[in-house]
Amino acid sequence: MQNEEINSNDNEVKYVRTTAAFDCGGRCPLKFHVKNGKIIRVEGDDLVDDENQLRTCVKCRALRKYIYHPERLKYPLKRVGPKGEGKFKRISWDEALEEIAEKLKYTKEKYGNEAIFLPMSGGYLGAYHSPVVAMVRLFTHFGGYSTHHGNISSEGAVWATQAQYMSPFVGHSREDMLNSNLIILWGWNPARMNSGTDAIYNLVKAHEKGIKIISINPKYSDTDVVVADQWIPIIPGTDVAMMVAMANVMITENLHDQSFLDKYTVGFDKFKEYV
Ligand code: SF4
Repeated sequence: MQNEEINSNDNEVKYVRTTAAFDCGGRCPLKFHVKNGKIIRVEGDDLVDDENQLRTCVKCRALRKYIYHPERLKYPLKRVGPKGEGKFKRISWDEALEEIAEKLKYTKEKYGNEAIFLPMSGGYLGAYHSPVVAMVRLFTHFGGYSTHHGNISSEGAVWATQAQYMSPFVGHSREDMLNSNLIILWGWNPARMNSGTDAIYNLVKAHEKGIKIISINPKYSDTDVVVADQWIPIIPGTDVAMMVAMANVMITENLHDQSFLDKYTVGFDKFKEYV
């Protein structure tokens, strides 16, 4: 995509095409309207193609608030009071790097490398500090580090898809939702964050097509307002109990596909007993 410049009402407005680096599963096309060096508006994909627009969710549409928030961290701050008091002073990048290097060396010498905890991914860091890039390389050269177990955002899905399909890289395109008979949104609010470009767009299309959509979520979300035919306000922490209850109904009322289970799964007998 190319950037373009226009004059409107004698004020120069520059259009900048970009995307977001949120760790959201989407890389939606964005069009910033920039005037006097400031973003004055954020638009999504403006291609004139009703069928294939890559529509953004509200998170990127609100990027101006993120970028210009008065409390946005734009330079290193050092705590100067007790923890929790909220007192910080601005320091230079060189000072920050020196302090961090000093603390890392101290921790390594006194407690060993395992005392260094390196959390990775999340927020904007997902795109920059992906576990396979610079931070891991740096800390590996430094002698090692500790980190969290597994994937911080989708460990359950990663294991389930590996067990089922032998790969975590599976899924359907968002358009495939239009081929469903029933869509269950389990704790999912793609109007706030798509988790993949065009999720809410295709959900709205599915809703308009008459496909039933059930939302299971403690919160009545923006997505539920727009597309849910039924909202089940589950109590947090009871998801697995509800899934087992659903399986119980399917099995006792013989709604399950036994031939599929026989052909593609192992351990159903044990699961049936458990349920
Ligand atoms: S899914 Fe939402 S947050 Fe992610 S890039 Fe697209 S518009 Fe931005």
